[in-house]
Amino acid sequence: MRRRLLDPAFALSIFGRDAALRRPDSAARCPYHVFHLRRVLSLLMEKVIIVGSGCAGLTAAIYAARANLSPLVLEGRQPGGQLSTTTLVENYPGFPDGVDGPQLIINMHDQAEKFGARFSYAEATDLELRNQHVRVKADDEWLETQALIIASGASARYLGLENEDKFIGHGLTSCATCDGAFYKNVPVCVIGGGDSAAEESLFLTRFASKVYLIHRRDKMRASKIMADRVLANKKIEPIWNTVVTKYIPDEKGEMRAVRLRNVKTNEERELPVACVFVAIGHDPNTKAFAGKLDADPEGYLIAKNLAESKHPGVFIAGDVADRVYKQAVTAAATGCAAAMDAERYLSELER
Ligand code: NAP
Repeated sequence: MRRRLLDPAFALSIFGRDAALRRPDSAARCPYHVFHLRRVLSLLMEKVIIVGSGCAGLTAAIYAARANLSPLVLEGRQPGGQLSTTTLVENYPGFPDGVDGPQLIINMHDQAEKFGARFSYAEATDLELRNQHVRVKADDEWLETQALIIASGASARYLGLENEDKFIGHGLTSCATCDGAFYKNVPVCVIGGGDSAAEESLFLTRFASKVYLIHRRDKMRASKIMADRVLANKKIEPIWNTVVTKYIPDEKGEMRAVRLRNVKTNEERELPVACVFVAIGHDPNTKAFAGKLDADPEGYLIAKNLAESKHPGVFIAGDVADRVYKQAVTAAATGCAAAMDAERYLSELER
């Protein structure tokens, strides 16, 4: 759902900001008039816009909606965030038998909608920070809001090899849940040594004839329980101390093999695989906010007191600011904090 808002510049022209606020001879310069004008303008804006619809954004939406703030959630092109591309989530509290990531996201979405959250597929592409409000560019339309919650998450990282873009969708992907079923009874490989790589490898054993786990070190970074499961699975063959240096296509441009290099011996070889699943971590989705808010050298936004940004009225939640925990439950927690902070901020504005 997309709601077109009255452009404040237009609104100001209707209400005569120049007459009201600037002209020295205007009777409208009285504080009451200015206060009234601000109130009218605030009614024309969104109260809360949430950028992102992963675990953090949806939790913020549930809390903001329950506080009667009728938040507008800009879901972007990939609604649902990383949970929507995962499989069984076993460590989200309250689900002793685990819960499918996509199902968890659908539940959160329904819960937020039930309380009055509104959703748009528009993507936030730019931001302007003003004194008492924020402008967000959603696709090609500027939206005005009193409070903004940035929960834009993080996106899968790729290796940066030659012609990488051309291979995406032709045997190169970062999502086993999305693409694993296309590779039945053929060998595939997963790159990485973390929990994502472990999870993807285990999932892929349902389809592939063989899953090679290619890791640049000789030890997995994944949690012990996940690493143990991987190493016990006969269909998974770890290839340690090894990096992929080249994707090799067949005559149709589909992935046929990868070139490997052992980082200890420098020995090179070719490994036939029909698909490469890259699971080497994520980069924060902060392009739209670059230079506007504090960020660390890798682009993660910096939040203080859990969810505050340096700009009043702008709050931060989830993986976009989390380079340490990156869990669904921590994203949900900061989503909650951001919505409660936004609510408090809006109440103070109204005083
Ligand atoms: P991660 O823990 O950062 O692991 C990334 C892996 O990729 C590491 O093994 C790293 O190698 C490797 N790597 C990084 N850059 C590389 C490159 N350019 N070339 C080759 N290998 C590279 O990322 P993640 O696995 O996506 O996990 C992120 C967070 O989400 C973690 O906190 C994890 O616990 C959590 N998570 C949890 C679950 C779950 O509980 N079910 C599932 C998925 C993720 P090094 O080891 O050498 O650094």
